[in-house]
Amino acid sequence: MAIALTNVTKVYHMGDTSVHALAGVTLSIEDGEFAAIIGPSGSGKSTLMNILGCLDRPTGGTYHLGEQEVAALSDDQLAAVRNKKIGFVFQNFNLLPRMSAWQNVALPLVYAGVPKHERWERAAQTLAIVGLAERKDHRPNELSGGQRQRVAIARALINDPAIIIADEPTGNLDTKSSNEIMDIFCRLNRQGRTVIMVTHEPDIAAYAHRVIQVRDGAIINDEVKQGVGGCS
Ligand code: ADP
Ligand code: ADP
Repeated sequence: MAIALTNVTKVYHMGDTSVHALAGVTLSIEDGEFAAIIGPSGSGKSTLMNILGCLDRPTGGTYHLGEQEVAALSDDQLAAVRNKKIGFVFQNFNLLPRMSAWQNVALPLVYAGVPKHERWERAAQTLAIVGLAERKDHRPNELSGGQRQRVAIARALINDPAIIIADEPTGNLDTKSSNEIMDIFCRLNRQGRTVIMVTHEPDIAAYAHRVIQVRDGAIINDEVKQGVGGCS
């Protein structure tokens, strides 16, 4: 599921003004990479992640995801690609407060029409992958921040995506929980998944083997480290 952006631009129109959020980004990410995207606020990181994650389309340029050109897909087609191939993890976890851990994890399966028994089985298996087998029936407010993020990771994994996109996944976590979350990303990456993560924190970016630096809607530095980065 290799990623190839070529000269991607994104323009937001707001009344009379337009914002050039991405000013011609060309970027390839191979299967199994672990890339961190860094850069100041407003530099275009979220816009880039939204395009990479098929949440949004570029204004110009091309985006190949595997064999498929996704820049030209309809909304429904884009959603289908996204649900099958990409798992999202957010800074604020984005869990539904009234639902238990397993119900949150199983939510993507509800939309896919999977029967309840199978949803429960798959959610339980996926919670075990992130070490939360014992917390299946807890609601988010009964879990620590690190545990909530693990529930969110399990939800991202429920459809076995090739690509994980994480936007500041440790932004609300203490150091210990952050490192535990990063260890999970490392494990998922070792299993062959591509991980693309936005972060402000140098210690967190250090887990990636590649650091892509964005400024003013452009990539100003793209560095691949020797070895495997901070995962070991
Ligand atoms: P970052 O994630 O690095 O903070 P963003 O991708 O959020 O950067 O924003 C890049 C630029 O695009 C900023 O100038 C921002 O104000 C603008 N922008 C982002 N999203 C929108 C939107 N939905 N509508 C209008 N402008 C936007
Ligand atoms: P509700 O309908 O109130 O949302 P459920 O009836 O789906 O709740 O599940 C209640 C609890 O029963 C779940 O939280 C889970 O612990 C357990 N449970 C549900 N389905 C299964 C199953 N197939 N096997 C074992 N336990 C299950």
